[in-house]
Amino acid sequence: MTALRSSVYDTIVIGSGFGGAMVALPLVESGQRVLMLERGDWVPEGPQRADPVRGFFQLTPAYTLETAYEVRQRKRRHHEGICACVGGPSVFYGGAAFRLRREDFHPPAQIVGNSGAEWPFSYDDLEPHYARAEMLLGVAGRAGEDPTEPPRSAPYPRSPVALAPISRRIVEAAQEMGLHPFRIPLAFDERSGACLYCDGYACHSGSKHDLASRVIPRLIEGGLELRPATVAIRLEARRGRVVGVEVYDRTKRERRELRAERVVLAAGALASPHLLLASGLASENSAGDAIGRYLMRHCNAFVYAFFPKAPNPEGLHHKQVAINDFYFGDPEGGPADKLGNIQQVMHPQPGGILRGPARRLARAGGLGRALERAMARAIAPASLRMTGLQVIAEDQPRWENRIELERGGADAVGLPRARIAHAYTERDLAARAALVRRAKQILGRVPGAHVVHVHEVETFSHAVGTVRAGPDPRRAPLDEFCQFRGIANLYVVDGSFMPTSGGVNPSLTIAANALRVGERVARS
Ligand SMILES: Cc1cc2nc3c(=O)[nH]c(=O)nc-3n(C[C@H](O)[C@H](O)[C@H](O)COP(=O)(O)OP(=O)(O)OC[C@H]3O[C@@H](n4cnc5c(N)ncnc54)[C@H](O)[C@@H]3O)c2cc1C
Repeated sequence: MTALRSSVYDTIVIGSGFGGAMVALPLVESGQRVLMLERGDWVPEGPQRADPVRGFFQLTPAYTLETAYEVRQRKRRHHEGICACVGGPSVFYGGAAFRLRREDFHPPAQIVGNSGAEWPFSYDDLEPHYARAEMLLGVAGRAGEDPTEPPRSAPYPRSPVALAPISRRIVEAAQEMGLHPFRIPLAFDERSGACLYCDGYACHSGSKHDLASRVIPRLIEGGLELRPATVAIRLEARRGRVVGVEVYDRTKRERRELRAERVVLAAGALASPHLLLASGLASENSAGDAIGRYLMRHCNAFVYAFFPKAPNPEGLHHKQVAINDFYFGDPEGGPADKLGNIQQVMHPQPGGILRGPARRLARAGGLGRALERAMARAIAPASLRMTGLQVIAEDQPRWENRIELERGGADAVGLPRARIAHAYTERDLAARAALVRRAKQILGRVPGAHVVHVHEVETFSHAVGTVRAGPDPRRAPLDEFCQFRGIANLYVVDGSFMPTSGGVNPSLTIAANALRVGERVARS
């Protein structure tokens, strides 16, 4: 292993996703020497981004199974990878940029159960940072339409464009039911181009405001040193401080040790607890046994309707409308208290549908690729006749839902193998079922729509909670500013920090909290 003793940085940030990019900004702005390590590479520009099958994130080189997590859910097992690239999954995300509701910071007993989850700060503490995150991501939205909306100190930075015809039909259907549909706050410029598929694909039209296009270039301009294709594999701690970060350089295929005054871990809610456990740091922390536990991922489903006449003949981006009328419960059914959000999605993604076969066909070479293209041509027209709604149900933090090290063995980069154990609670499933029932009712009123398919989401794309923050040092590994208890110069700022998942997409909350922590660290 090569030790770079001469390279002492003020801060090493591990991961360039929402937590990493946003925490780095105040540090770079304050003049710190910041090194950012990113496991993946830049996602190249080019027409492959728009390929309805191969452009789907799980079929691109950015989705790595090099450090795969075996997932055990009841009797089934599969392997989950991570989206590793500069900017993290933001490059492929849907751009939904929601704030949590004010009440989410005081979760009810029905959600908390016996987990002891407790937010160590309030919505009002985070509000100015939400406003800055929205500005940085150029979020378009319209205040005053969503009945659950929390207070804002500033208007949305941008206004949304007019609704696509299919979105208007969904709005009318929801209004007929007495609901209050509103515009999804979107980190997206719908003026820049028409799109058939967005969520799950890197943008080919410059419309998506992801971190790789909006924030990381600004960081580099400000002096950040970014090292892509570099995996942190161990944090070395001595006498309550991190003294080195061991990394695997995937380009040179060698290990090195890097040093800094402090380390900010932002590798995502699967990779961060993995690295902490692999580094043996649980024993240094007063709540070390909680590391890796309380894994949440929302209890999500897509509800698709088929239309005899294509619902979006104009080929417009139409992830535009959301409904929060059942966020805090549904008087007509479902579990008491919070449920979550319903939001529009676009056409079903051909790459998502063909994921398994496409992977197998790619291995068969030329003939396999020709077969794959034929299958894609066959399903694309059918997918364009479908569109629908996604439901995002808040899930409960459970001690048993966890990422843990396996006994023995390391992967190709030198990380000890880890696995995921996860099961939804009855309440999680009932909350999702209640929202699915409402989504079906709304779609059922859209002229020409026949609800045909409910797809229950299996991925961990909304993973949060595995190194939670909280006021109680016995129950939360992180303090209110996400400092790792027991190690003075270590912070964790990705989705791991969230004590509860809330009922909306998590990225803006992760971004806002990382800005908050970054500002605090820059001042200290
Ligand atoms: C297809 C898709 C669509 C989504 N759409 C939305 C949406 O519309 N709205 C929303 O709010 N959320 C969305 N999400 C979820 C959102 O992307 C995540 O919640 C968010 O990115 C999590 O941020 P994070 O900081 O926790 O980690 P990430 O953003 O995942 O960043 C972690 C980074 O760390 C890197 N890394 C991991 N391990 C190491 C290591 N050992 N060394 C160095 N680097 C490492 C990873 O490569 C990655 O770049 C979507 C996710 C997916 C996959």
